[in-house]
Amino acid sequence: MNGYIHSFESMAAVDGEGLRYAVFLSGCPLRCIYCHNPDTWKGEGMAFSPEELLKKVIAYKPYFKNNGGVTFSGGEPLLQAEFIAECVELLREKNINYAIDTSGATELNDAVKYVLINAQTVLLDLKFPDNDSYIKYTGKGIENVLKTLDFLEKNNVPTRIRTVVIPGINDSEEKLLKYLVHINNKECVYRYELLPFHTMGFFKYEKLGLDNPLKDTMPLDMNVRDRLQKFVNSKLAKGIDI
Ligand code: SF4
Repeated sequence: MNGYIHSFESMAAVDGEGLRYAVFLSGCPLRCIYCHNPDTWKGEGMAFSPEELLKKVIAYKPYFKNNGGVTFSGGEPLLQAEFIAECVELLREKNINYAIDTSGATELNDAVKYVLINAQTVLLDLKFPDNDSYIKYTGKGIENVLKTLDFLEKNNVPTRIRTVVIPGINDSEEKLLKYLVHINNKECVYRYELLPFHTMGFFKYEKLGLDNPLKDTMPLDMNVRDRLQKFVNSKLAKGIDI
């Protein structure tokens, strides 16, 4: 089957381990208040078959070495889990790793489970600590996210949890303590990473004629991010990679 892809980024150093070939799939069920990729929300995009995608990826294989590989991101890549599952078969034949960068907002159907369980790493967003704030700031509840985290734990899938820290919304130690409740007892989680809110995607809202609810919010000061990262690291159970 074909997948619908918004864009590619070769040699991305941030979305997973090692050097990555990032594939941004189109479509997202959430509407996060801080989204910097609103242009991925719609399901439209370039159509690719798994074979066509493999052809693009294979050119970068020499650069992946031991830890690198493909990262499926978005949008929400697991909306197209059946397409990714077909790509995974081809990648495995070529010994190429892949990571999944997901909001965890999709249902755990068979294709989603298959794609998660075989990933080298899953980068899972924990955007807010409770159902009410999830609904308020993303448009959907927390239930599927927590189910996804439980699934990753049960299946020992190496997991990196990520939270965007937004000035005035969750940039305090008190607020972040509430996130740790979900992570602290999870052995699959090898890192908890705080990402600073930034304004680099603001121009896309203007271009798309969308209302930007955070248009008056400043980027998070990196000193604040570093202080909060140290705080959460110090609170997490021994064994978490800091
Ligand atoms: S899940 Fe990602 S792409 Fe979707 S709205 Fe949230 S930040 Fe944007």
